[in-house]
Amino acid sequence: AASRTPLMAGNWKMNLNHQEAVVLVQKLAWTLEDKKHTYSNAEVVVIPPFTDLRSVQTLIDGDRLKVKYGAQDVSVHDSGAYTGEVSAAMLSKLGVSYVVVGHSERREYHAETDAVVNAKAHKALAAGMTPIVCVGEGLDVRKAGEQVSYTLAQVEGSLAGFTAEQVAGLVVAYEPVWAIGTGEVATPEDAQEVCGAIRARVRELLGDEAADGLRVLYGGSVKSSNVVGIMAKDDVDGALVGGASLEAEEFAGICRFR
Ligand code: PEP
Repeated sequence: AASRTPLMAGNWKMNLNHQEAVVLVQKLAWTLEDKKHTYSNAEVVVIPPFTDLRSVQTLIDGDRLKVKYGAQDVSVHDSGAYTGEVSAAMLSKLGVSYVVVGHSERREYHAETDAVVNAKAHKALAAGMTPIVCVGEGLDVRKAGEQVSYTLAQVEGSLAGFTAEQVAGLVVAYEPVWAIGTGEVATPEDAQEVCGAIRARVRELLGDEAADGLRVLYGGSVKSSNVVGIMAKDDVDGALVGGASLEAEEFAGICRFR
């Protein structure tokens, strides 16, 4: 993790309207600044619902806040007759820096395959945004002890067609599904096992530049009280945080991670 900039990303999921979003981002920025930017070695990203993005942009630009913002999904299409979809160009026009693709909730409830996730990641990157590509096994796979091979297959499918140079700038989030929103946190050793295996496979397939540049996040019930042990692991470069990102003090605590 040494030479890579830590990334702390808060996935709000379907929570907070645009007014509540502005309040939370203001509180978050204030809390981080109040502690004299002791978090400043981490990039801090909020990932609100689409409807909040314009308001968040206005606040962050207007107040020159250091917090960045991302989107929770993106269309595989560029434009046209795709009711309900939001394009990469629309997001990038709003100053969006990161796009979550293939979150386990999208894979499960919207049947997103690795091929769809891969197409979305390509759309995001082509529009100048960084995809946060989510992977991770369910409980049955974990119980069978197959978490590494299962997750590596998702990584290969989801990162297909990217060059080594592109992968060096990407983010992969390892989120064991059994640890998401359950209070069941993987141990730092569990996180390192799979995050390390992801980097090793990328090194094998694409070489040192890609493997050393790629940031691998852990996600699954991360809190300010357990983030330190997870961040101490060599191949964990940050966290994708759900529930704990909805409270300013708590998320700021995660962003400081010490
Ligand atoms: C997530 O869904 O990305 C997540 C990690 O959620 P939680 O932190 O609530 O487990």
